[in-house]
Order: sequence, then C-alpha cells, then structure tokens
Amino acid sequence: MSQRNAIGVDIGGTKILAATVDETGSVLEQIAVATPHSVELVQAAVVQSVRTLLTRHEAHDLGVAAAGLVDHHTGRVRFAPHISWRDEPIRDNLAHALRGDGITSVTLENDANAALCAEWRFGAARGRDHVLLVTVGTGIGGALMSSGQIMRGTNGMAGEFGHMQYAPDGRPCQCGLRGCWEQYASGRALSMQMQSGGELLTGQAILRAANDGDPEAQRAFFMVGQALGLGLADLIAALDPELILIGGGVSMAGELLLGPTRSAMSTRLVGGRHRRVADLDVVALGPAAGAIGAAELARGGAPSL
Ligand SMILES: [Zn+2]
Repeated sequence: MSQRNAIGVDIGGTKILAATVDETGSVLEQIAVATPHSVELVQAAVVQSVRTLLTRHEAHDLGVAAAGLVDHHTGRVRFAPHISWRDEPIRDNLAHALRGDGITSVTLENDANAALCAEWRFGAARGRDHVLLVTVGTGIGGALMSSGQIMRGTNGMAGEFGHMQYAPDGRPCQCGLRGCWEQYASGRALSMQMQSGGELLTGQAILRAANDGDPEAQRAFFMVGQALGLGLADLIAALDPELILIGGGVSMAGELLLGPTRSAMSTRLVGGRHRRVADLDVVALGPAAGAIGAAELARGGAPSL
C-alpha cells in the first residue's frame, strides 16, 4: 500500500528532519540534516531530502512543518525567528520543484500545530479533544486544540505561550520584551539558574548532575518546574484543557520537572479544589512528531484545521 505513505518534513532552526510515514504513523525512514543559513539552501536541502526518501518509498503527498508564523491559506511562512523567511511562498516553491518527482500535493503547517496533530492521531493525546501542547526547549512554544480542532487564531500565531508576561519588568527576552515566561520556565532558564562564573551549562549536563544528586541542579529543576506550573495554571484558567502535554528537550527530565510543575499548577489554579485539574504528561512521539504530523496533514487524516 505504498500509495498511502506520505512524506513529512519538519524545518527547525537547527535541523531539518524529513520522514516517510505510513498510514499508521510509523516512520519508515528518516533523514536529518543541519539547517543551512540561506533561504535558497534550506529549500534545496528539503528538495534533496525528499528525493532521497522517494528513491526507497513511493509517496505523492508532502507535508511541511515550519517554525514560525505560517499562513496555511497561502502556503507562506510570513515570519520565522530562526530562518530569514519573510513572506516566503514555501508551499508553491516546493510544489514546483518536486512536481517532476511525483509529488502532487504540498501542505504547510506550523511545527507545533503539526506535532499536536501527530500526538492526537497517534500519540499521547489520542481520544482527547481539549489539549494544550507546550514545548519546553531553549524557549517555550505550543499549540492548542479545542473540541478536536487546532486553534490557530486570526494570524495563525496562537500558541506562542512563551512570551506571555510572567514577571513585569523582569528578565529581558530575545523578542524585545521583558519578563516573558520562557525566561523563567525553559531550557535557557535552567541554564541561567545554574550559572556560576559566567559559564552556561546545557540542559543535558544539568539533568545528569541532578540525577547524580547535585543539590544545585535539583534546585534548578525545582525552580523551573515551579515557574512552568504557575504559567500553566494561567493557561488552564483561560482555556480549561483536559490534557497538557509537555514536549521539547527539557521534558526528558520527566518527574524531576513535572513534580514541581504539577504542585505549583494545582496550588495556583483558581477553584483548584472544585474542578478536575488537567492531566499533565509528556509527549509520546519524540523529535519526529512534527514530521509525522505534517505527513498526516498532507494525507488528510489529521483533525480539521
Ligand atoms: Zn519574549
């Protein structure tokens, strides 16, 4: 049933992950390359990855997930924080470049939305219709689903949770504002908690130290988990989801992070003792979720958007 395969490509700030995905959400083959710096080279890398995948598995549908402000009606990325896309017609460019290779349809979606589609269809959000995905990596991103539909908002930018104000006049953020939530509850915040002598440790190094019993590293996870939980309480108050999924690199810490997160979340939540508090869990599909979701969207099997 090779005609049921689809190709999903997740274009991130640091890597491009392309995968051939079957109709059960299983990845048949995947290719990862570093994201080039120029817009032209990014497109060339995507085209080359898709052609390589097509040599081994037949597919006609291509789904692309991109970090940034995606206009799915026009198939353009209007703005991306880590790639110099400015109103870039990615869908049409790729459709044109790959027409001769048998690709007959191309769809474009925001990467967090695509990952949530994948978790809903094949992963930790199966059977759930009111779901928040919060990706905790270097910063914080996310997506939301209500009544089984991805909520994009007017500009397609819904889910940029990381830049909600957490601390008035707080730490400066790369976005130009101050006190953004991601400055307190992300991988970057974890490194800043551990900063001593000006050297920033990676999240993986801090996780290793915490698991080895280092009290400073454990305290860093406690502080970041607590900040994460306080922000999630606000999101629950606003959106009332049944499930919150935590993704991104920092979610690898599991209960070390989620313990203090859950505690702060339920303490801060309005009417917490008189309501069912949202379940808190980590994503199931890992780093390929964006590509799996993009493929599923291309095939038309994902939730209505
Ligand atoms: Zn910000």
